[in-house]
Amino acid sequence: MTFRYALCVMRLNELTIKEAQELMAKGEITSVELTKACLERIDEVNEKLNACLTVCKSEALREAEMADERRASGEVGELLGIPYIAKDNILTKGIRTTAASKILENYIAPYDATIIVRLKEAGAVLLAKANLDEFAHGASTENSAFGVTHNPYDLDRVAGGSSGGPAAAVAADMCIFALGTDTGGSIRCPASFCGITGLKPTYGRSSRFGLVAMTSSTDVPGPMTKTVVDAAIVQKFISGKDKYDSTTVDEKIDDYGSEIKKDIKGLKIGIPEEYFTEGLDKEVAELINRAIEKLTGLGVEFVKVSLPHTKYGVPVYYIITPSEVSSNLARHDGIRYGYSVHDGAKDLAEVYLKSRGQGFGPEAKRRIMLGTYALSAGYFDAYYLQAQKVRTKIKEEMDKELEKVDCLLTPTAPHVAFKIGEKAADPLQMYLEDIFVTGASLAGLPAISVPCGFANGMPAGFQLIGKRFDEKTLFRIGHNYQQATEWHKQKPNI
Ligand code: GLN
Repeated sequence: MTFRYALCVMRLNELTIKEAQELMAKGEITSVELTKACLERIDEVNEKLNACLTVCKSEALREAEMADERRASGEVGELLGIPYIAKDNILTKGIRTTAASKILENYIAPYDATIIVRLKEAGAVLLAKANLDEFAHGASTENSAFGVTHNPYDLDRVAGGSSGGPAAAVAADMCIFALGTDTGGSIRCPASFCGITGLKPTYGRSSRFGLVAMTSSTDVPGPMTKTVVDAAIVQKFISGKDKYDSTTVDEKIDDYGSEIKKDIKGLKIGIPEEYFTEGLDKEVAELINRAIEKLTGLGVEFVKVSLPHTKYGVPVYYIITPSEVSSNLARHDGIRYGYSVHDGAKDLAEVYLKSRGQGFGPEAKRRIMLGTYALSAGYFDAYYLQAQKVRTKIKEEMDKELEKVDCLLTPTAPHVAFKIGEKAADPLQMYLEDIFVTGASLAGLPAISVPCGFANGMPAGFQLIGKRFDEKTLFRIGHNYQQATEWHKQKPNI
């Protein structure tokens, strides 16, 4: 179905949350129509992109009907009737959750993640579960047990990772918004590669209850959207204290709606010189510089800051992450749930060995081995403990520099999306993809990726890193930038 909107014919699935919400409020479209348009688009392009692993068509249409009934009975709501896609490491009751792993291929969770519960209460409509790197380990979605997700701007390139499925789905208008998770860049990196907006909220801002745990000390779910305004809307609903996640904080949820309307004159943004190094692609650096110029024109003052511990971000992250991963993946033992091999196993140890041996992919196994090693007696002090100490330094340094400014601006990724297969054989190359995103994760700070142009036809974004629980300033700057630019409105030709 198409809709005559802003003098051009636009398909309903192309709408943003804000646009769809306004049209529904006026009674010009229904949630069922919007949901059908998204489902048709999924049918049309999913074979090419491999963004969705499970599509819940009948459930989605039922939820959409219910949302329309709620609206007809007088209810209003920013997400009422808005169709979305969730990354497949977020538990959904009654709908398969695989974490893109063979070991959870047929796993159906008995409960919803807290963030899913909150979206359900708000009346959002779950369309599908999206592809990712197995257990969210990766930066390209090539580690999925169910095949790579293709970038909608160039099918030969990756969509980024680990939330490659949700990013491709948003960019290709298969949904109005998506939920991702970010442990060390997994919302921001694919957002940059696919030309969309992606927010990693402050650690503790949104509940981790019901996420398939990766690195519990940095995991955080967040919105992947077509605009900054939409990210602010979704974040408002998924924020807040959750009795099932003791790391969530009862911090006041800001009224993003009024905050983002303010201009940005006089705000001060720090540019950490360590983020503008040799590894940064020249054309991407040029796009970041142009974004800086644009923001300067809007009244922002830029100052140089220094984060000398940045270079330890990737090494520290790749000690802490495998350590926590090795512990969190212990539950997948072939007994309690998931893929299980009993045939021919002579004892329990063999059931474990065979189930885990066949169920986990190579990257999950690599991380289990690295993590077990880093935590083992004799190596614990040299690796894990040392990494935790350096992590504290990184956090202190970022907090200190952020006292001088309103936020930091950096590139999100060192380059645009790379070719499928280009880095898959070299895990170290893949780990280096996270060079600009691990800092905010280790420090637990909020960070958003905002599209800022194209290099060789592929999108790229800049990253804003904020003070703890100060998502509102990131939204305000990002929104002002999007008001003054058109990059977020570009669409892939697929
Ligand atoms: N590239 C990071 C990793 O492989 C990203 C993980 C994430 O944020 N889920 O660990």
